[in-house]
Amino acid sequence: MQTGYFGEFGGAFIPEILHETFRRLTEAYEAARADPAFWNEYLRLMENYSGRPTPLTFAGNLSRQFGRRVYIKREDLNQTGAHKANNVMGQGLLMRRMGKTRAIAETGAGQHGMACATMAARMGFECVIYMGAEDVERQRSNVFWMERLGATVVPVTSGSRTLKDAVNEAMRDWVGSMDHTHYVLGTACGAHPFPEMVSWFQSIIGLEARKQILEAEGRLPTHVYACVGGGSNAMGIFQGFLDDPDVTLVGVEAGGKGLASGHHASRLASGSGAIGVAQGYKTFFLQNDDGQMLDTHSVAAGLDYVGVSPILAHLHASGRIRCEAATDREVLDALQRLMRQEGLIPALESSHAVAQAFKELPTLPPEAVVIINLSGRGDKDIFTIADALEDPGWRRYIRKKAADYSVNEA
Ligand SMILES: *Cc1c(COP(=O)(O)O)cnc(C)c1O
Repeated sequence: MQTGYFGEFGGAFIPEILHETFRRLTEAYEAARADPAFWNEYLRLMENYSGRPTPLTFAGNLSRQFGRRVYIKREDLNQTGAHKANNVMGQGLLMRRMGKTRAIAETGAGQHGMACATMAARMGFECVIYMGAEDVERQRSNVFWMERLGATVVPVTSGSRTLKDAVNEAMRDWVGSMDHTHYVLGTACGAHPFPEMVSWFQSIIGLEARKQILEAEGRLPTHVYACVGGGSNAMGIFQGFLDDPDVTLVGVEAGGKGLASGHHASRLASGSGAIGVAQGYKTFFLQNDDGQMLDTHSVAAGLDYVGVSPILAHLHASGRIRCEAATDREVLDALQRLMRQEGLIPALESSHAVAQAFKELPTLPPEAVVIINLSGRGDKDIFTIADALEDPGWRRYIRKKAADYSVNEA
């Protein structure tokens, strides 16, 4: 098998000018991976800075209601509120090892940009975040924080002024700056070695979860649920259990308004994805018969992506993982239930995993032990959730703010 391939998926389809940069990155990554001191340094940093190991919380109320034991892996407790910290901190340490001093990244909703900006501030790197001009408008609070953290946010005005244009712009930057700059990719996608490298940093989730469930239950879980955007949090927790064939691994994509509606972001579960090559790698993309990328839809910005990790694509094609999709409606219901029953505030992305687990729990054998990966916390989603729930108090609040604002402006 060629390196960087998982079955027929993956690879590195990159412009000639970046070949040397990717070769050096792959070399640095492989050397770091072979050096136990690097992983120990990473573990110490994550303990000290990001609260690791994150708890595996027993959900007592839900367990009673469902009559099956339910555990929640608490990635929401990380620095900046999601598993993204695991990836950016790992790549930051690798940058140091490579002697690079400038970090660039693309961001859609701004969560990866935020995580990257905190990493760069702590490690003393210069930081430039490319963001579609449309997203800069929509995500004002994240832009504000990134700038306060010392990052430069560059609004990208080409194309559709969203994530994929920001990716192109970041690549253009890298071609001209690769000597001192590292491109901090945000998920387990893109050209080799990114899918493998990002999955390695995220494997900290699965390593911890495996140890924690064995301590708590004296046995492995029967089912593990994780949401799938690019696939990094799912890869993270799944790696704890890949070699245990009795553990069912379920990846949950964004079913949006329902698979039949065409408004979703499900590339694996629905069979609506088709194999293709784009953005440097081969995987299932949401595309039409002519290979044009389709618009994706999800209530969760972090799942709104046309591609998916080539490693997950392979695990799906080979039958090791099962892929499902949860609709926006199911996700909002699950989110409210988790809040009321357990006092947790999940991100909309993570709520997809919760929704699918809630759907399946009543049908599982009574001795089932379930882990749900809570990839992030929901504070960032307050506007979207309040809007989707048509909360009247919130509507009054927004109207009042708008009125205050126009008075102040005048
Ligand atoms: C970004 C994000 C995701 C999606 O990314 P993956 O690479 O699929 O994990 C999921 N959950 C949260 C909270 C996120 O911020």
